[in-house]
Amino acid sequence: MRALEIKSLTFSYDDGTLALKDLSLSVDQGEKVAIVGPNGAGKSTLLHLIAGFRTPFQGDVLVDGLRLELSTADDVRKRLGLLFQDPDDQVFMPTVEEDVAFGPRNLKLDDVEGRAMKAMRSTGTDRLAKRRPHRLSYGMKKRVAIAGILAMDPEILLLDEPTSGLDPKSRAELISFLKGMKRTMLIATHDLDAAAEIADRLVILNISPVAEGTMKELVSKKGLLEGAGLEIPQIAKLFESIRDIGYSVEWVPVTLDQAAAEFQRTVERERRRDRPNR
Ligand code: ADP
Repeated sequence: MRALEIKSLTFSYDDGTLALKDLSLSVDQGEKVAIVGPNGAGKSTLLHLIAGFRTPFQGDVLVDGLRLELSTADDVRKRLGLLFQDPDDQVFMPTVEEDVAFGPRNLKLDDVEGRAMKAMRSTGTDRLAKRRPHRLSYGMKKRVAIAGILAMDPEILLLDEPTSGLDPKSRAELISFLKGMKRTMLIATHDLDAAAEIADRLVILNISPVAEGTMKELVSKKGLLEGAGLEIPQIAKLFESIRDIGYSVEWVPVTLDQAAAEFQRTVERERRRDRPNR
């Protein structure tokens, strides 16, 4: 069974704004899928709709096989953890530990303290347990919000612009944290560098789906990402420039690890080209 299955989804706001049109999408168990698109593409709407906060809609949304409707919204929500774009919308208890424990307590899960501690440790927020969340830096607040979600142990994480507003160090730490986490994820973002690092697959959304594939596949289709108002990953841009000036780049890497390997291969090919008999 798919972790998430969306069929022919269409949704308009009360004022008539069409936010999603004829979107079909499926996510396998353990898969990380990034929804990328420019501002206003419907990314946030999609995540909030899956989490049961946007009704009515046309089409089908199934979470772990359970169809989302008014009567099932609470059960569906228990299987999901939604990270809001702005942690101030999510973090509200007087202390970090109370905030992280709020979700599991509200869901009446067992071992609330144990769950909260585990989630705080995994996000590096345990040392902040007694602090007031609203006094923390933006990056730390985001971590607390993530801890609060993990404490509920949801099957699927819905992450709305997880890297937005973070300083470079916090952003890099969050990317490596999400990359290392084994859990099904749907990530809405316009940060293609982050998407390239974290996601197995991407869907370009602009109210309707535009294309889908791995980052490598999308980058190889000239103009596709740019045409959708997106910037290709910086590292891919660099290698395209290297190729354009005549070096033998065989394929354009989209992550730093891939770039390091391709750089080494390019240097070796260039050496052989310069000294063919060695
Ligand atoms: P994204 O997350 O990709 O930036 P959104 O899902 O926020 O896109 O927005 C999709 C469309 O829905 C946009 O045209 C936006 O203006 C509109 N929209 C978002 N929220 C509301 C709302 N509460 N009421 C009316 N229109 C909205």
